[in-house]
Amino acid sequence: MAGRVEKNYPLHQLTTWKIGGPAEAVYWPQTKEDLATVWQRAQKADVPVWLIGQGSNLLVPDSGLPGVTLVTTSLRAIEWGNYTVQVEAGYPLARLAQEAGERGFSGLAFARGIPGSVGGAVMMNAGAHGGAMAPHIAAVTALWPDGTVKKVGKAELEFAYRSCSLRGHAWVLEVELMFAPGDRETILQEMKENLTKRALNQPLEKPSAGSVFQNPPGDSAGRLIEAAGWKGRGVGGAQVSTKHSNFIVNTGNAKAIDVLTLIEKIQKSVELEFGVILQTEVAYLNDTQYTRSDARIKGEQSLENN
Ligand SMILES: Cc1cc2nc3c(=O)[nH]c(=O)nc-3n(C[C@H](O)[C@H](O)[C@H](O)COP(=O)(O)OP(=O)(O)OC[C@H]3O[C@@H](n4cnc5c(N)ncnc54)[C@H](O)[C@@H]3O)c2cc1C
Repeated sequence: MAGRVEKNYPLHQLTTWKIGGPAEAVYWPQTKEDLATVWQRAQKADVPVWLIGQGSNLLVPDSGLPGVTLVTTSLRAIEWGNYTVQVEAGYPLARLAQEAGERGFSGLAFARGIPGSVGGAVMMNAGAHGGAMAPHIAAVTALWPDGTVKKVGKAELEFAYRSCSLRGHAWVLEVELMFAPGDRETILQEMKENLTKRALNQPLEKPSAGSVFQNPPGDSAGRLIEAAGWKGRGVGGAQVSTKHSNFIVNTGNAKAIDVLTLIEKIQKSVELEFGVILQTEVAYLNDTQYTRSDARIKGEQSLENN
C-alpha cells in the first residue's frame, strides 16, 4: 500500500480550526482500495478508525484520537463527462466548482468558497447562497461497514439541510455529479461575487470551521447569537466572531474544551432568551464515545450528545 503514515501526529494541523490533540496514527491513502484495505484490517484488529477530509467542519478533542485517522486528501482522481463529473472524495470542492464553471457546467457556483473536500461536502450536504450539493449528486460510491464498496444512486439517498443519510453509516469514496449547461462568463461572475460576499461577511483571516450552528427554520443562528449578546464574547481562546456571529474563531491558543464550553453557553442562552434550541453544524470526533463492539464505521458524534 502506498501513502504517507505518521505516528503521534498533531491533529490541529489537519483542521481549519487549528484545534485537536495527537492522533495515534494518521494515514493518507493514495487509492480507494488502500483506504478500504486499512479499514478492513483495522476492523479485524479491533482498532478504531476515523476519517477526515479537509477538516473544515471538524472539532477534534484535546486528548486526540486513538487508532487510525484516515485523511482522504490524496484521493483526487477526476474524470469529466458531458455535463457530468466522476470525482474522488478528497478532491477540493472549491477547485471542482471553479473547474466546472470554466467548462460552462452550471450548478456548483455556490461552492466556490467552501474549503472542504468533495466527500465531506456530500456528507454535510454543504450549501451556500441558495445552492447545495444534493441536487447535483447522481451517485455515490461508498465503503460500507462490512468492508464492501458499493455504488448507490441518488434514489437510494436522502438529503436534508446539512445532512445526508450516509452520515455515520458509510464513507464516501467517489461521487458522480451532474450539471446543467450554463454560460461560462455568467457562472464565473457569480462565483466571484460569492467570494466577495464571503470576504465581507466572514472572518476568513482567523481559524474557524465555518458556521457552528445550523440555521433554525425561518431564522438565522447568527442573528439569534448576536441578539443574545454573544458577539465578540469568548471562552479561553475561542471567541464568537465580531464579523459573523455564527462563526467561532480561534484567537491563537483555543482548546476544544473552550469551543465546547462556548457552544454550550450559547445554546443555553439562546434557548432561555428565545426558546430556540440551536443544533450544531460542525462535526465532533469524540474518542470517549468509541466502543469497540461498535461495528459501524466511525462517523462523528453529535455535539448535542456530548
Ligand atoms: C471559512 C469556512 C467557510 C465555510 N463555509 C461553508 C458554507 O458556506 N457552507 C457549508 O455547507 N459549509 C461551509 N463550511 C464548512 C465545511 O467547509 C463544509 O462542511 C465541508 O463540506 C466539510 O468538508 P471537509 O472535507 O472539510 O470535511 P471534514 O471537516 O474533514 O469532516 C466533516 C465530517 O464529514 C466526515 N467526512 C469527511 N469526509 C468524508 C467522506 N469522504 N466520507 C464520509 N464522511 C466524511 C467526517 O468524518 C466528519 O464527520 C465552511 C468552513 C469554513 C472553515
